[in-house]
Amino acid sequence: MSEHYSFFGAVEKSFDKAAKFTKWDPGILEQIKACNAVYRMRFPIKKDNGSIEVIEAYRVQHSHHKTPCKGGIRFAAEVNQDEVMALAALMTYKCAIVNVPFGGGKGGIKIDPRKYSAYELEKITRRYTSELIKKKFIGPGTDVPAPDYGTGEREMGWILDTYTAMNPGEIDAAGCVTGKPVSQGGVRGRREATGLGVFFGLREVCNIPDVMEKLALPVGVEGKRVVVQGLGNVGYHSAKFFQNAGAKVIGLAEFEGSIYNEEGLDIDAVFTHRKTTGSILNFPGAKNLETNTAALELDCDILIPAALENVINGENAPRVKAKIIGEAANGPLTPEADEIFAKKGILVVPDMYLNAGGVTVSYFEWLKNLSHVRYGRMEKRFNENMNTHILNQIESLTGKKVSDKEKGYIQHGADEVDLVYSGLEETMITATHEIMNEWKANPAIPDMRTAAYVVAVNKVATSYAELGIFP
Ligand code: GLU
Repeated sequence: MSEHYSFFGAVEKSFDKAAKFTKWDPGILEQIKACNAVYRMRFPIKKDNGSIEVIEAYRVQHSHHKTPCKGGIRFAAEVNQDEVMALAALMTYKCAIVNVPFGGGKGGIKIDPRKYSAYELEKITRRYTSELIKKKFIGPGTDVPAPDYGTGEREMGWILDTYTAMNPGEIDAAGCVTGKPVSQGGVRGRREATGLGVFFGLREVCNIPDVMEKLALPVGVEGKRVVVQGLGNVGYHSAKFFQNAGAKVIGLAEFEGSIYNEEGLDIDAVFTHRKTTGSILNFPGAKNLETNTAALELDCDILIPAALENVINGENAPRVKAKIIGEAANGPLTPEADEIFAKKGILVVPDMYLNAGGVTVSYFEWLKNLSHVRYGRMEKRFNENMNTHILNQIESLTGKKVSDKEKGYIQHGADEVDLVYSGLEETMITATHEIMNEWKANPAIPDMRTAAYVVAVNKVATSYAELGIFP
């Protein structure tokens, strides 16, 4: 029997499935599951043509077990309260999994950003920020938004500017939002962080021999056949990192349709083609597929849905032929799809772990803002001088010369982007093993999503218990 769940209902269902594998008091579990605060607002803006439109928007704080709350702001026509609640809840579990000390939050503005001018979008973003400020739903220590579907650095810059204008002299104001342009206090590497985290996470899973053996796949990402749905920030960067690592991106899907080439598609070339022609279709050498969902059903090793929720459900899941599904989007699979894949032995690598790269690097950005210093500034030159000294010693003691290429590599002191990438790599590797160890320790856990929830629930519950709220 297939039941229909709202998005928040689906998150609750996954939570309940996992809660059975924990030993926490039902009251603690209920508190973790509940959304602590939901702020729904309506405000008017004057459009460029003089008309007035009333905008519907939300900010949800799912959990205050740690503060600030953290999570992106989405601009999409489909935004609704249930969706923002679900996404905020996922943020709580996501932060717990990657050991980022935030509670979950999420925001949404119910607009299709393609239908508004840049000036109108700026007015909407600034007004939304003012509404958040009025109710203290934003601030470096209370709630810190970031980009999500339909928003990016530009919007984060407007948020920061509005916040600083209304909080003059607040020394940590830059930490009120992350995903900002680097010139406004952003951190290098944040833009590609979610895609890079997706890559690091899947690479780590592909490097576990017994997991690959069960899927009848060779170890490693090299040569893997990958399909990506969505060429936005997350999809584009995920695809790009896979291509750079020697995987073959054989299929891509966007609004207008899907393309396929068994020999592999060059991501940047497809991106440029889309920019010039307005579509990914008719890309030289590739076959057009009929619909934008057709790519989800391609025969491949790894399928990466990187757009919106509920794209793989009870209806199309039986036709999915991938061996691994990497959820780069939030909630791309419904609970029905999960059950079908668990039965078929398809490995679903869950969103709340796999796409946590964005919030992990947001955490790095927030730390940078609070410390008021760029990563690497204090130690880069010192390390370079020290490395040079060691190299010179080795050369003079051995009488042998290190090649210039190797020298450059060894001498190099870490820049901000190097530290962000390696911090993210470490985070994703650790999280992978925490989840896999949980799964191994309890073979009754049906899938990786449930194992990830168990890890998350245990961490949040421990934190509540240690706060003394639930002695
Ligand atoms: N919107 C992203 C997510 O869903 C990033 C959130 C953040 O950086 O706070 O994880």
